[in-house]
Parts: sequence; C-alpha cells; structure tokens
Amino acid sequence: MNTEKIYLSSPHMGGDEIKFVNEAFDANWISPVGPNISSFEEELAAYNSVGYCAALSSGTAAIHLALIILNIGAGDEVLCSSFTFSGSCNPIRYQGAIPVFVDSEADSWNMDPALLEDAIKDRIAKGKKPKAIIAVHLYGMPARMNAIMSVAKRYEIPVIEDAAEGLGSTYFEKKLGSFGDFGIYSFNGNKIITTSGGGALVAANKDWITKAKFLATQARDPAPHYEHTEIGYNYRLSNVCAGIGRGQLLVLNERVQQRREVYNFYRRELSDIKGISFQNEIEGAFSNRWLTTILIDPTQSGFDREQLRLALEKENIESRPLWKPMHLQPVFKSFPSFSSGVSERLFESGLCLPSGSNLTVKQLSGIVAVIKKLSAIS
Ligand SMILES: *Cc1c(COP(=O)(O)O)cnc(C)c1O
Repeated sequence: MNTEKIYLSSPHMGGDEIKFVNEAFDANWISPVGPNISSFEEELAAYNSVGYCAALSSGTAAIHLALIILNIGAGDEVLCSSFTFSGSCNPIRYQGAIPVFVDSEADSWNMDPALLEDAIKDRIAKGKKPKAIIAVHLYGMPARMNAIMSVAKRYEIPVIEDAAEGLGSTYFEKKLGSFGDFGIYSFNGNKIITTSGGGALVAANKDWITKAKFLATQARDPAPHYEHTEIGYNYRLSNVCAGIGRGQLLVLNERVQQRREVYNFYRRELSDIKGISFQNEIEGAFSNRWLTTILIDPTQSGFDREQLRLALEKENIESRPLWKPMHLQPVFKSFPSFSSGVSERLFESGLCLPSGSNLTVKQLSGIVAVIKKLSAIS
C-alpha cells in the first residue's frame, strides 16, 4: 500500500503566492479590504475577458449574490443543471426559490439545450416562467454555451454560468464564465487554482458587480455610522487569500497544461483496457481537464465503478464517483425535473481519478497499475 495518500486534487502552489501574502502582512492588510483584492479582481477579469469581478468567500456565495441581484425570491423558479455539485443549486433554496432540474446531453455531460427549451416551454405553459438559468461546466468541460445562450435569449431569461470547475477552459476560443449574464468561479482547495477557500462573481454589467460588493460587505450605506437599508452578507474574500489567488493566477495556464497531461497519460496508458471510456471534448471545446473522469462498462471490463474505487482505496488512492444528480438527492427530489436518464447513467458508471497538477509520473503509474491489475483478474 502507498504510505502517502494520493488525493483526487490537492492544492499546488506556484511560489509567488507567499510574496503577495507577505505584502499583505507587511502592510497589515489582514482584512477583507486591501490592495490584493482589487488587483486579484482586475487580473481575474482580464484573464477571462469579462468586464468586472467581485472576489468573494466562495463560489456558492457568488451564485447566491447573482440570484439576489436578479431579484429571485420565494416561489420563483430557477432552472439548473441536475448533474452538478450541490453548491450550484443550494443558493436557489437560500432565496426560498424552486429549483427545476434539467438533465445532461450524452457527449458534453452538461445541460442539454434541447431539454432546456422543453423545460422552459413546459413551465411557461404552467404559468411559471423561470426567472434564471444556472448552467454548469463539469470537470472543466464546456457546456454548449452558444446553444444555451440562444435558448435563453429567445425566452429572455438571464443565465448564471457556473464555471467553478471550468477556469482556464475555453469554448470556441472564449473563456468559460464569460458567456452568461453572470459567471462564477470557485477557488476552493480542490479546484484548479485555490485561495484556500474563495470564489468570484463576474459580469459585463458594472452596476451588478458594484451591487455584489455592497451586498458582500453587509450592505453598508454611505454614512459615518453603520446605516443599512438592505439585508447584507459577509461574503468578501480576505486580502490575505486574494494574495494567494494572485500567485495562483500566474501559474493557471501551466496548471491547465499539467492537468491535460495527466488526462493524456491516463488515456494513453488505459487505451487497451476494455470497457473504459473518457469524457471527450465536443467541437470547439478546450477543457482544463480539472478532473480526469472515466466511464466503466462492467459487461466489457469485468469490474464495475465501485470495485475499482475500492481497489484504489486499498492502495490509499482517492477516487470518487461522478456527481450524483440533484434530482436524485433526498433534499431536492421533490422539485420538478426534466430528465433523460443521461446523468443517472453517468453517475452509475463514472469515476473521477486523481488528477492533481502535482502528481508525479511514479504516482500516476501506480494508479494505472492498480487498474490494470484489476482488469487482469476480472
Ligand atoms: C466547487 C463548486 C461550486 C461551489 O464552489 P465553493 O467555492 O466550494 O462554494 C459550485 N459549483 C460547482 C460545479 C462546483 O464544483
């Protein structure tokens, strides 16, 4: 057994993070104000070619603020990818709104634009026109954003683009997070770059981002004392964490390249194992390959997803089933959903393999060896 655990995706510092953090310490900017925050916002907005950016405490907070700014309240319906992490849709419930889940298409694994339109028509016919769409890019793979945006425009429904897993990916040369009316990113510890915990909200609309910063700092009106005319939140990123983010942005392209190499390694080394397939890039897509994910067909491989997960776990290697669809989750299953069965099948047969940009060839070879051994005895 490996004595040192191999994680699915662990933080990978570039070296300059500590320089920005030290600057914050030297100037005693250890608070949610300071020069790293505004610089991080500008640098992130420039990287993604989006107009404006608010650095926040998490990606979930970014989605929550987007919903508030779009005036989504109790009883309103919000369409959301079913195949995602719960952080995408929990904020819908924070607002007392109703999530309506839309299934994935088989190739990109992301929101099916045709099913999205079916869902919109159905809800409109029932007198409940959805107030927003939350479209997600899973594992770094672009959703068909051009098709999703054109459906959204046809029905005049704003789109929140959840690019928490898609920073550094592009679709027809355009950065993920820059297609929607709002885009969000996450810098949680396991994402492609991290600030230990953090997120960002981006938009072309300057007023929205100004509003987001106001709401994220407890909605303090201009006054010498603290004056409040609105409910606020404590959602700002700290100046120390923003320093980590600035250092991480400097190595983001390198991290994308390294994650893609991890994917290529698995793809090459596992090519002769029957019953294993990969998430392919759709036309126009360039994925950051945040996580390498495989599908296992047990009728061909002789083992299923769970057997492989356990074989890896025995060697101290972390792997994880694909996201369990939200329309199957106990807390969400009573809400409306438009499913085609695609995400359920992906969940049953899919596994995320260790994909960190800091994995060594020796570690990757060890992981592949476990898979090959299981295949040989199955
Ligand atoms: C990580 C993640 C989020 C939430 O981001 P946090 O920063 O952890 O709050 C939202 N959506 C998706 C798809 C994610 O992977």
